[in-house]
Formats: sequence, C-alpha cells, structure tokens
Amino acid sequence: MSLGRNLLDLQELDLGLMRDRKTLEELPEVRDLAKRRRAYAKLKHEATGILARRKDLETDLADLDEEERTCKEDIAAAQAGVDGSDYRSVQELEIKLSSLAKELDKISFARERTQEDLQQVQLEEQENRAHMKVVGDAILQGAETARNRASNLRAGIDDAEKRRARLVEQIGPEMAVRYDTAYKRFNGLAVEKLLQEEVGRGRSKTVRWMPSTCRMALQPSSVDGLAHAGEVGECPYCHRILVIKTDEE
Ligand SMILES: [Zn+2]
Repeated sequence: MSLGRNLLDLQELDLGLMRDRKTLEELPEVRDLAKRRRAYAKLKHEATGILARRKDLETDLADLDEEERTCKEDIAAAQAGVDGSDYRSVQELEIKLSSLAKELDKISFARERTQEDLQQVQLEEQENRAHMKVVGDAILQGAETARNRASNLRAGIDDAEKRRARLVEQIGPEMAVRYDTAYKRFNGLAVEKLLQEEVGRGRSKTVRWMPSTCRMALQPSSVDGLAHAGEVGECPYCHRILVIKTDEE
C-alpha cells in the first residue's frame, strides 16, 4: 500500500471510530436505561414516604386501642365503686359514665377516619409496589439489550483500533505525528486528496487541480511544486496533508 492510500484509509478509519464512539455514548438503549433507573429511584423514594405514613397511622390506631381500653377500665371502675343507695353517688356516676361514653364515641370516630386513611395508604403502597415491579423488570430487560448493542459496537471499535495500529505502523512515526497534529487541528479531516477536474467543453476544455476538502483550485505553479513533493505534500491553502497520488492511479 502506498503512503497516500494508507493516509486516506487511516482518516476514513478514524472518522468511523469517532462516529462509533459517539454512537456508543448516545446509544438510545443506554439512555432509556438511565431514564428507567431515574424513574425507579423516584418510586423507591415515594415508597419510603408511603411506608412512613403507614407506620404513623398504625401507631395512631394502636394508641386509639390503648385509649379505648383505659376508657373501658374507667367505666368498669366507676360502676364497681358506686353505692346504689346513695342518690348523689348515683348522680355522679351518671355524669361520669356520660362523659366516658362521649370519649368512647370520639375514639371510635377517630378510629374510623384512621382506618380509612390506612386503607388509602395501603392502596398507594400496592400501586407503588406494582409500578416498581414493572419498572424493575424493564430495567433488567433493558440492561440486557443495552449490553448486547454496546458489546457489538465495542467489538467493532476494538477491531478498527487494531487496523488503525497497523496503518500507523505503516505510515511511520514522523508521518503519524504529522497526521495527529492535523487531525486535532482540522477536527478529524486531516487529509485531502488532489483531484483532477475537467472544466469547459470541446476546445476550451482545460484541467484544473483541486484538493478534495478545501476545494481551492491550485495555481499551476503550486501543482508543479507538488509534483516534486512525491506522493504526499501539503495543501498551500488549508495546510492539510495533501495526497497527490495513490498507487491505484
Ligand atoms: Zn486544502
């Protein structure tokens, strides 16, 4: 392979590598997966809040049970301690029992409300769990797909990198440095090829020489100068590496 051909192949390989690395980074499967992971984290955060609310309501219910028990004990104690023959004692008992009955009503009312809230929270908890299961399964499946797509791309990149190393060896260290510098400077488009173009028709037909990337027609004097440079020179306009001929011409 000629130096010119190797340089053009190297550039093509590098442009492909740049594209594939970008594709790998922006793989839709990988982005979808990240989105699902964020959704899962949000659900998990919600689950923590729901659990805390459920625990609070359960504690409230236990407190109400305790209050009810105390209230019933008070009723039993009041009834046991009364002297039925004493009018005032009976009257006091009635007042006390009436107040305790009101308290029991209050407890029962509060318990109803708390139980309703608890049912609501339990429903939310079920929905949250079901949702987490769906998203979690999708993550497992998505991770698998992303891994497969990524590993195919990575295999292609590894292969291209090996071919690249061989080409770099063939062009030699000096040209490799020159290529790398131009690669950085021209964002990957380091090498251009000198094209021969025909202009006009019939008798007025002339030939002009044009680098493939900057496309500035060369002056005849520049073409003469380049002809002496051999296979590879430098474009007098944009200063890219200019391939003057490859072995297929
Ligand atoms: Zn140029």
